[in-house]
Amino acid sequence: MHERYFDYAATTPVDPRVIEAMLPWMYESPGNAHSIHHYGLKAHDAVEKARAQVAALIGADDPSQITFTSGATEANNWVLHALRDQIEVSEFEHSSIRETAERLGIKTFRAPSPEPRPRSNSVGTPPADARIYALMAVNNETGTIFDENARPTGAHLVDATQAIGKIRFQVGELEYVTGSAHKFYGPKGVGFLYQRFPGSIPPLITGGGQERGERSGTLNVPAIIGMGMAAELAAAEIDGRREAITELETWFWHGLEKGDKPHQPPISDYIINGGENRSPYILSLSFAGIEGETLLIELDQAGFCCSAGAACSSQNTESSPVLKAFGVPDEYIRGTIRISFSHHNTEESTYQLAIKIREIVERLRRM
Ligand code: PMP
Repeated sequence: MHERYFDYAATTPVDPRVIEAMLPWMYESPGNAHSIHHYGLKAHDAVEKARAQVAALIGADDPSQITFTSGATEANNWVLHALRDQIEVSEFEHSSIRETAERLGIKTFRAPSPEPRPRSNSVGTPPADARIYALMAVNNETGTIFDENARPTGAHLVDATQAIGKIRFQVGELEYVTGSAHKFYGPKGVGFLYQRFPGSIPPLITGGGQERGERSGTLNVPAIIGMGMAAELAAAEIDGRREAITELETWFWHGLEKGDKPHQPPISDYIINGGENRSPYILSLSFAGIEGETLLIELDQAGFCCSAGAACSSQNTESSPVLKAFGVPDEYIRGTIRISFSHHNTEESTYQLAIKIREIVERLRRM
């Protein structure tokens, strides 16, 4: 199932084993995790198990370092609001960091770009007064991996939403880490903030004092339990899932470069975005002379789902500031398509996708 869906960076289907784990918590065991009767205690215990499962996936020492949120967007907002006077963000961040930083008047620092490009002397060197840097683990538009070598000296917020359950990611010495369950086969609308020192920042959402007063609001028990199960499965299956996708790119290139008829010339004038050090789960290509939107619509008509870049900004027709930050020229940005893989894709569907892209790009260019 889902072999022709190539938008797993936007969201993943919920694993049937996750659905099975969630179901009893919707009707049979409806307890509020903060009630003191036995329904509540049962829900509380299950939520704590999920906290430990999430902690284990990212290598956190203690489950109390995890606070459940509605997703990475909320967790990113939380840290930025709390640390607005101390934090700086990279130009490659997801909109939940970039837009929030802009609204709060938070500065941008220039993280080293994965590609050589003109840089001022201050590139990669933090200004003396800054203390916390937000630089994501894997870029959602290009798949670029930003590891510890890319991070300036100091404390860090790492949005690991596109890394968790895909590439081996551990919190190590990081101060703050954020993630969302629906990127690793859990349900939508649930995620977390990891804090190295729990309680280190004031809450963003206040009220009933749930989550030790750090994040108020009745816990979404089924979703949290689903995220816990998804985390446990991801930890156990990460290598197998990755192995399943390693050959996909080879099949993609085979189709794109060679076509499906003898002696077809290689497709011309396109670039692979994001540099050498990329997650194998995301492939961003920019074709000169076409509109990415048109390509996406035509692919959809052929049954293939891809994305123009970040799904969250697909309503926004302005060219991606993140691709600009990566140094992609405007005429290429317009023709950008993001393909994001999963173990649900097959070699055949990936090859067919490439053939279709080739056919559409060539046709659009002739028009
Ligand atoms: N950060 C990154 C890198 C993402 O890819 C996403 C989802 N596209 C988010 C944050 C936000 O996640 P959510 O919408 O689940 O809050």
